[in-house]
Amino acid sequence: MKYDYDVIIVGAGPSGSTISRILAQNGMEVMVFDKRKELGEPIRCGEGLGAREVISQGLDIPRSCVSTDIKGAKVISPDGSSIVWKSKETTGWVLERKMFDKWLMEQAVHKGAKVQSYTRVFDLVKKDGKIQGVKVSHADHEPYEVSAPLVVSAEGMEATLARKAGFRAFSSLYDVDTCYQYEMQEYDHENLIELYFGTKSSPRGYVWIFPKNDKKANVGIGIGAHLETGVKEGGIKGATPKDYLDRFIANHPQLKNASKLQDTGGIISVSAAIDSFAKDNFMVTATAARQVDPIHGGGIAMAMEGGLLAASTIMKAHKANDYSEKMLKEYETAWRNTLGKKVAKRLLLRKVMEAASDEDFNYIFKTINQDDLDQVMKGNFAGPVAKVVAGRPQLMGLLKALISSRETV
Ligand SMILES: Cc1cc2nc3c(=O)[nH]c(=O)nc-3n(C[C@H](O)[C@H](O)[C@H](O)COP(=O)(O)OP(=O)(O)OC[C@H]3O[C@@H](n4cnc5c(N)ncnc54)[C@H](O)[C@@H]3O)c2cc1C
Repeated sequence: MKYDYDVIIVGAGPSGSTISRILAQNGMEVMVFDKRKELGEPIRCGEGLGAREVISQGLDIPRSCVSTDIKGAKVISPDGSSIVWKSKETTGWVLERKMFDKWLMEQAVHKGAKVQSYTRVFDLVKKDGKIQGVKVSHADHEPYEVSAPLVVSAEGMEATLARKAGFRAFSSLYDVDTCYQYEMQEYDHENLIELYFGTKSSPRGYVWIFPKNDKKANVGIGIGAHLETGVKEGGIKGATPKDYLDRFIANHPQLKNASKLQDTGGIISVSAAIDSFAKDNFMVTATAARQVDPIHGGGIAMAMEGGLLAASTIMKAHKANDYSEKMLKEYETAWRNTLGKKVAKRLLLRKVMEAASDEDFNYIFKTINQDDLDQVMKGNFAGPVAKVVAGRPQLMGLLKALISSRETV
C-alpha cells in the first residue's frame, strides 16, 4: 500500500519536534499535526529546563528562547530555613516556551519534516482492524484522512488518540498534580529557582518561583489533585491550587506587591509511566505516556531524551518495514532500562515525601546539604538517609523504603 507519509506524529511539543527532527534528518517522511493555532501557545509550564538534556542533543538554543539562566536552586522548608543547591542538577534555563517550542519544531522543519498547526487529529483510520493513519480537521474545514504505517502520540497529558488506540493513557486524581501559575513582576532574584515545601501551604506538592528576565518570575503551585476537596489539617478545605497560591503570595514580603502578567494552569502526571507504549502501528511517547519526573512534574527533558529513544526504534522499524508491536516495543525496553529507572526512583522518593510532616521536612532540610541532595537526585539514598536517621531515629519508619532501593540511576 502507498502511504502519504512514513510517520504521522500527533503533537508538536518537545516530544513531537524531537522525534520528527531525527526522523527527517535520517530521510524519513514525517508529518506533524498540532491543534494549536500557534505552536507553543498557550503556555502551561513553569518553563524550567536542566542544561544536560539539551546539551546532550547538540542543540544550541538561541537566546530568544531563553528568559534567563538558572544558577542553582534554593529549597525552603516549612519553617523558612533553606538550602542553596548549586550543582549540575540545578543549572539550566528558564525558557520562553512559546519561542522554544516553535524553534524546536523549526529545527525539524529544516531537516525536512512537515508540520501543520491548527489541525486536530480526532480519530484513527483503520483498515481490516489495522491502524493506517488518522482523521484530521484543520480549522473549520471538512475533515480528511492522512495515511501512514505508523502513528505516534506525542499529545501531552490529553492523550486522546492514545486512548482511542486502546492505551491506558489516563490518570487517577491521586496520580496528578493540579497546578496554577502567575508570571509576576517585579521580583528581585539571584537566578536561583526557589522551591517551597509544606503540607499546609502546598499539600503533596510545592510552590515554585522560577526567575525570568526583567525582574519577572513564574510563581506557581502544584498540589495533589485528590486533595483539593478535603485537605489535611491546616490546608484550605475545598480549595483550588489558585487559592493556595494566592495565600502564599499574600504572605510573601516581595510578591505581595508584585503584578501579575499572566495566569496559567494545568495538570501534570506525578506517577509511573503507563503500562505499555506500543502496539502494532502505534506508539505513545513522553507526557502522553506519563513519562514525567514524579518529584517535580518536569516533562520537557523527558520528552527530549525519550524522543531520541523513540526515534531510534522508529528508524529500525522503517528500515525493516516492520511496524509490529514486537518491533516497536524495543523503544519501551530501552526507556524502561534507562529513563524508566530514574522515574521509578523519583516516584519512590515522592511517596516518601508525601508521608512527611512539616516537622520532618524542617528536620531533614536542616540536616542535609547540597551534596546530599545531589546524591538523592541520583538515586543514592543510603548516605543522606543514614545522616538523617542518626539524629532522628524516629524517621527510620518514613525513610526505610529508600534504603532498600540500591540501584543508581
Ligand atoms: C503548570 C505546569 C508547569 C510545568 N512546568 C514544567 C517545567 O517547569 N519544566 C518541565 O520540564 N516541565 C514542566 N511541565 C510539564 C511539561 O509542560 C510537559 O511535560 C511537556 O510539555 C511535555 O512535552 P510533550 O511534547 O510530551 O507534550 P506537550 O508539550 O504537552 O505537547 C503536546 C502537543 O500535542 C498537541 N495535541 C494534543 N492533542 C492533539 C490532537 N488530538 N491533535 C493535534 N494536536 C494535539 C497539543 O496542542 C500540544 O501542542 C509543567 C506542566 C504544567 C501543567
